[in-house]
Amino acid sequence: MAEVLVVVEHSAGAPKKVTLELLTLARNLGEPAAVVFGDPGTAESLSAKLGEYGAAKIYAAEHADLTGYLVAPKATVLAALVGQVSPAAVLLPSTQEGKEIAGRLAVKLDNGLLTDVVDLAADGTATQAVFAGSTIVKSQVTRGLPLVTLRPNSVTPAPAPATPEVTAVEIALTDKDKLTTVVDRVVEQKGSRPELTEASVVVSGGRGMGSADNFKVVEELADLLGGAVGASRAATDSGFYPHQFQVGQTGKTVSPQLYVAVGISGAIQHRAGMQTSKTIVAVNKDPEAPIFELADFGVVGDLFKVVPQAAEEIRKR
Ligand code: FAD
Repeated sequence: MAEVLVVVEHSAGAPKKVTLELLTLARNLGEPAAVVFGDPGTAESLSAKLGEYGAAKIYAAEHADLTGYLVAPKATVLAALVGQVSPAAVLLPSTQEGKEIAGRLAVKLDNGLLTDVVDLAADGTATQAVFAGSTIVKSQVTRGLPLVTLRPNSVTPAPAPATPEVTAVEIALTDKDKLTTVVDRVVEQKGSRPELTEASVVVSGGRGMGSADNFKVVEELADLLGGAVGASRAATDSGFYPHQFQVGQTGKTVSPQLYVAVGISGAIQHRAGMQTSKTIVAVNKDPEAPIFELADFGVVGDLFKVVPQAAEEIRKR
């Protein structure tokens, strides 16, 4: 069975959830082979978890040049690996880094590329939500191998235990791959909440929150549900919440099991970032708000009454 290369995204010594989704999806197309970039020892430390989700092989691309420079060296290493193993497909996460690697790899291989895919069939047919999520399309790469990035939270990770063999990848980089270097890393303050793009519950606040202080209402509900906090652009532009939490066309794309939109009207640019959420709940005082066209459950009412009441009910259970 041909290998399917899965580019591993990891943090704090563990593969990110989207990596487990990719391994699950890869099993439809062939034998999953994880590609780990990092410092020496990284692949070994991730191997148990990657094996649990079906990685039959792990390619360890471990070199300071891969962590000390921006993404270009990773695309070069990946292109060489594709040449060596002729995989059935290459799958990456639809994250900022994953998409940049994929784009560079597509150019190097003169290959087609499908990004922001939410499903991938065994024959390589990908499902995408386009035009701000208003249209679902099925597409295939017609030049080269299926090179696909998967939107996080699109697939339910399913274990399929395997014992991966770790193989070191030869790293041969030129100065052309090292045109930009990392000069500093600012480690994000990690709170107790899950990462926005990986969370299975997201509670987002909009302009209707009225102030930064009022975002406590959203945070409280998110914490009770074990979720992440998001915000509309109107909320981030108004300084109610930091920009890194913006959901939408020019913010993050989320696809959780549950998305709660609080005081958000549902503009097309906001929908673009949350439309593929499995269940959408909206709280808005305007019954004509467009978010209700999209919501599975809607509450017409004042968020400052509805959300604390919902929190109170959840607390009782
Ligand atoms: P509003 O549209 O002002 O809606 C606020 C809602 O709160 C209203 O529906 C109101 O009825 C309700 N409300 C008010 N008070 C209460 C209350 N007490 N109780 C209950 N409900 C209440 N937007 C994004 O979100 N993400 C993006 O990435 C993004 N990218 C953009 C890119 C471009 C190029 C452009 C042009 C725009 C972009 N926008 C984006 C902006 C987008 O068009 C909207 O302006 C924005 O989403 C509106 O945010 P909002 O729903 O919070 O505010």
